[in-house]
Amino acid sequence: MFFEKFRMDGRVAVVTGGGRGIGLSCAEALAEAGATIVVIDREAGLAEEGRDTLRAKGYTVEARVADVTKTESTRAAADEIAATFGRIDVLVANAGIARSGTAAEDTPDELWLSVNDVNYNGVFWTNRDFGRHMLKAGRGAIVNIGSMSGYIVNRPQLQTYYNASKAAVHHLTASLAVEWASRGVRVNAVAPTYIDSAMTRAVIDEATLDVWLRDTPMGRMGQPDEIASVVHFLASDAASLITGATVKADAGFTCW
Ligand code: NAD
Repeated sequence: MFFEKFRMDGRVAVVTGGGRGIGLSCAEALAEAGATIVVIDREAGLAEEGRDTLRAKGYTVEARVADVTKTESTRAAADEIAATFGRIDVLVANAGIARSGTAAEDTPDELWLSVNDVNYNGVFWTNRDFGRHMLKAGRGAIVNIGSMSGYIVNRPQLQTYYNASKAAVHHLTASLAVEWASRGVRVNAVAPTYIDSAMTRAVIDEATLDVWLRDTPMGRMGQPDEIASVVHFLASDAASLITGATVKADAGFTCW
């Protein structure tokens, strides 16, 4: 009875930014549990690469190109996927970008706006546009990817714009969860620590890694699949009583 709650057979799960990294791993976890997957990415090549990787493992996966910062794009994707598949049970709002290295007082408007456009606005647009279909059906589970940066201020890198965008995701999650709780749609978030992905590999150097690991009680970064298993749990009926939560998967980082 308990294990059954983790099964996702017959469900349709959409993962934004699912072409690689954490998103791709989330897509794989949900696929392994039985869901039909739609991988969305801004880049067609990445979306197709993610789809092909999962198809090669025998899963049912489609790819779509959409930019989460464009409401015409998120709405069209949500409407088309709902029409094509007949249902949308899960949304993993994972698409995000990281920028760092600019002090708050030197932050150009474009930097602030571009980070918040993907990480914060994009999460709302996708929650709203996919959430509408879930509300209509009276069922659904949304998992937003926040960050431990929504709780703490990272060091040594300066990234006010990123940290603030992720704190906003956590509160957006709670706000939507309350609005939709009585209508069958759960909304939760996961707050990862540093994860080994293209995002972190782009900025990491030995000195930075040293600070990160010293600040982490477990003394290591995470792997994408360690976030995917939390996302799978929150998306499944095993988390039927959980909504509005932001689950820290942070190797203890925020305890210090
Ligand atoms: P990644 O850069 O490897 O993957 C992000 C994916 O999102 C890419 O495929 C990219 O093309 C896609 N994407 C970016 N902008 C998009 C847009 N406007 N529309 C659609 N797709 C878009 O990053 P990752 O490490 O896998 O991170 C995934 C999520 O996890 C992000 O929200 C990130 O902020 C969050 N996160 C990552 C870490 C980490 O250490 N890697 C830690 C905490 C939180």
